[in-house]
Amino acid sequence: MSPQNPPPSHPPASDVVLTHPDRLYWPDEGVTKQALADYYAAVWPFMAPYLVNRPLALLRLPDGIKGHQRFFQKHAWKGMNPHIEEIADPQDIDGEKLLRIADFNGLTALVQSAALEIHPWGTTTENWERPDMITMDLDPGEDVAWSAVISAALDVNARLKARGLAAFVKTSGGKGLHVVAPLAPKAGWAEVKDFAHSLAESMSADEPEKYLSTATKAKRGGHIYIDYLRNGRGSTAVAAYSTRARPGAPVSMPLDWSELEEVSGPAAFTLANVPQRVETRPSDPWGDFFDAAVPLE
Ligand code: ATP
Ligand code: MN
Ligand code: MN
Repeated sequence: MSPQNPPPSHPPASDVVLTHPDRLYWPDEGVTKQALADYYAAVWPFMAPYLVNRPLALLRLPDGIKGHQRFFQKHAWKGMNPHIEEIADPQDIDGEKLLRIADFNGLTALVQSAALEIHPWGTTTENWERPDMITMDLDPGEDVAWSAVISAALDVNARLKARGLAAFVKTSGGKGLHVVAPLAPKAGWAEVKDFAHSLAESMSADEPEKYLSTATKAKRGGHIYIDYLRNGRGSTAVAAYSTRARPGAPVSMPLDWSELEEVSGPAAFTLANVPQRVETRPSDPWGDFFDAAVPLE
């Protein structure tokens, strides 16, 4: 199904100089700033379509994941690298500008800036009011088995298929899975969010013992919250291939549906094992993502 998509033999080059390349970002794992840059060089060709020319929110931890500084940032900061561009939100006339990157220099600038998580909008800045993906975020409560999260992802896949959409799955690198449907950018934000909401509600109505479609934490235990709220204008979800600022240096990893049942957990893929995976796998599990996009009916 996926096109053969071998990674290029040469890593992309960057003009951005990393200062203190041996600074530890994940100290327990020995992962340095340089190691993070090397990881992103290895996954860049696969990651770029989900990252370039999208408004971005960044989780910056200048002293690494065990440091005290932790900034969730949507706007520019003092001394920001010029490869991180500022862009005006067309609907936020008086507000502050947002951030985006255009190329691998931009991603290296994010590494230099200690952006250990990258959370894009589900839209490109060329077509700002028409999202090009739907993200269904599966958030298991306490005591939910991993196998139940996998079943929920398969259920979301079937429901999206029944509505004429293709769906792709990735680990969150945290506690759950994200099922992502590519869209031809046609419907607006309100329509896309309503669609995601009704999908979540249909799941909680059909299997209330398993699923919740409201963010009521009290009832979360034993249930999977079908978090459709990633799909509103201005909402973000962690990018495919982004690292997470959590122990183990996990990443949000695109998977093939056929391998999902063998994946041991939401943080199974890490900075330590992904570069080898992308080098040795014959194809990119999300290689068809944008080819599979259809408009929301
Ligand atoms: P998990 O599997 O643990 O649920 P996740 O990526 O689905 O991982 P979170 O990291 O809990 O979920 O984040 C939820 C959403 O809120 C993310 O999609 C992200 O874009 C956004 N977000 C994350 N951190 C912050 C923050 N500090 N402030 C505002 N929004 C945030
Ligand atoms: Mn989640
Ligand atoms: Mn969530």
